[in-house]
Amino acid sequence: ARKYVYARKFEGFPKEGDLQLVEEKLPQLKDGEFLSKAVYLSVDPYMRAYAPSLKLGTTFIGGQVAVVTESKNITHPVGQYIVGNFGWRTHTISDNESELYVLPDFDKLPLSLGVGVLGMPGNTAYFGFLEICQPKPGETVVVTGAAGAVGSHVGQIAKIKGCTVIGIAGSDEKGKWLVDDLGFDHFINYKDDKFKEKLEQATPKGVDCYFDNVGGEISSIVISRMNLYGRVSVCGSISGYNDTEPAKATTIQRFLVGKQLKMEGFIVRRWTERWGEGILQNKQWIQEGKLKYSETVTEGFENMFQAFVDMLKGGNIGKAVVKV
Ligand code: NDP
Repeated sequence: ARKYVYARKFEGFPKEGDLQLVEEKLPQLKDGEFLSKAVYLSVDPYMRAYAPSLKLGTTFIGGQVAVVTESKNITHPVGQYIVGNFGWRTHTISDNESELYVLPDFDKLPLSLGVGVLGMPGNTAYFGFLEICQPKPGETVVVTGAAGAVGSHVGQIAKIKGCTVIGIAGSDEKGKWLVDDLGFDHFINYKDDKFKEKLEQATPKGVDCYFDNVGGEISSIVISRMNLYGRVSVCGSISGYNDTEPAKATTIQRFLVGKQLKMEGFIVRRWTERWGEGILQNKQWIQEGKLKYSETVTEGFENMFQAFVDMLKGGNIGKAVVKV
């Protein structure tokens, strides 16, 4: 078995050697335990965001789709697929229901979706957008991180709900995918010098809902465009995750007050009780052809660190996953 240990605190972008790939020998199973083998592992921005609070020497955090290969637990027989919060490891012995769930029936859809559109990122989009933004037909929705796992999904739900959708991401190739394939109404590259002007042009009626994946200056500009009683769902702030300086002063508060906006942060665990509902609805949308997904798949557990850094630097379209 192999695993990645958090060996040195990240400073700025994670560097070679911050995570150490080590071999481990697993003990014999005890009664009630089962052994699973990772099939798809997830690399996600939250791993970078949570890293400052992790203890050095522990297995690095993360979710995976795994298959049970040995079992002394009748609830988890050999061959069963599960989604586990086991960290970056190829093999895991577990008896702890709180760190896993049985993969629901995907009706032949790929298993990798268990860490993507039919898993945590999918439910983040589903609940984080619908519950907090409460979008109404005809409203204008802006989503940042738009070509990523969560953002690409949020924009499509907004289209399903009859909204005008503006996606913001970091490359024109991503923008083409959003508009041509996913049906977004507009795309703006946040690296464009004329970002502010382009946003104004794309949102003649202002912005009603903003799904914020990035924070920072881009978010301040979007929020300045918001209409009275707009809603902001604060999902993440990846623009600052690799910052070495303390967060810069923000300027959005005056818009929040002036426009009486509702801005709410969330952690997707809030909807744990409704997890299956999210998966079922997202699956149905996929099967109806209303929800498309893309995955950027890296092969090999030994390439997991590189996949993680590539994702943080914008190398992925849709969900970044690692296939063992
Ligand atoms: P993505 O698939 O969106 O991958 C990350 C993307 O972030 C990259 O592809 C890159 O795309 C973009 N990015 C990187 N640096 C910057 C930057 N400086 N400014 C703007 N964009 C940048 O990841 P996820 O969909 O998994 O996550 C999206 C967000 O959602 C993250 O902020 C994450 O922390 C958050 N999240 C929150 C959860 C919650 O419960 N609150 C749960 C899950 C995710 P580009 O080319 O466009 O720069």
